[in-house]
Amino acid sequence: MEALLEEILDNASQYKKLGKPASYIPELAKGDVNDLGIYVISSNGQAFRAGDYKKQFTIQSVVKPILLLLVLMDNGIDEVRSRIGVEATGKPFDAINVTDQTLLSQHINPMVNMGAIAMCSLIKGKDYNERFERLLELTRKLAGNPNIHLDEAVYLSEKRTGNKNRALAFMLKSYGMLDDDVEDVLDCYFKACSISVTCKDLARIAYVFASRGKLPISDERVFPAELARFVNAVLVTCGMYDGSGDFAVRVGVPAKSGVGGGIMAVVPTRMGIGIFSPGLDEKGNSLAGTKALEELSHRMYLSIF
Ligand code: GLU
Repeated sequence: MEALLEEILDNASQYKKLGKPASYIPELAKGDVNDLGIYVISSNGQAFRAGDYKKQFTIQSVVKPILLLLVLMDNGIDEVRSRIGVEATGKPFDAINVTDQTLLSQHINPMVNMGAIAMCSLIKGKDYNERFERLLELTRKLAGNPNIHLDEAVYLSEKRTGNKNRALAFMLKSYGMLDDDVEDVLDCYFKACSISVTCKDLARIAYVFASRGKLPISDERVFPAELARFVNAVLVTCGMYDGSGDFAVRVGVPAKSGVGGGIMAVVPTRMGIGIFSPGLDEKGNSLAGTKALEELSHRMYLSIF
């Protein structure tokens, strides 16, 4: 298996430099386009890896499925469905998805920024520090890594420059969809995006979604299977931004990408995959990472369709 992963990374290497690291904050623009790594955990808990799988990067939007899981665990499916939708927006992650007159809860997608900001306000906790700490704890638990921490430089940079996200939060507030102070909610969102992870962490988290709520090896159940089905379904339809249809055709598994260059891919019942390469395509998905996943999917018949 590791020889296969090496071969796949070799083939995907030619695409590394065709992508561009996210540049909306200087911290991400520093990403090295030469990096490409993969980590796979199979159904029996065995791990395989290749390339730059040890590199740290910020989780960015890959935190959204974890955030969705946490608010589902905290509030239950019915309450969450009454506050946010599940339909793809077909628009970029930071689009202001609102018509002149209306913003309805069913227009708020949990895999784009507006939905993620709204979800921060649905985490249970006495204040936004506690809410973020609970999100961080769940991330550590799913990843089996108590050392997962915040990348302070990225967090401060996001906070300083995140005016589009401020616009999205004020839009929610103006439509009565955010009760709390906008800066408090955004602080939680910026921290959530700035959690530092590796391919191994993403593979572990993906594994738990693939096994519908159970940790590898110990088989400990962390959340009910129906929540995994909920999150995985949302990932298929909108996990890869407005490139989700293309990804479904080419790779065919639930997945979430982030502008840090990470992709978490969930192969239900079979494996969890974490992949990283900071060069992004025009939709914000890791270019070489997607290419590598496409080949892995073909070679191992991973598509769920
Ligand atoms: N921190 C990024 C933002 O809010 C996350 C976007 C992403 O990874 O899609 O703009």
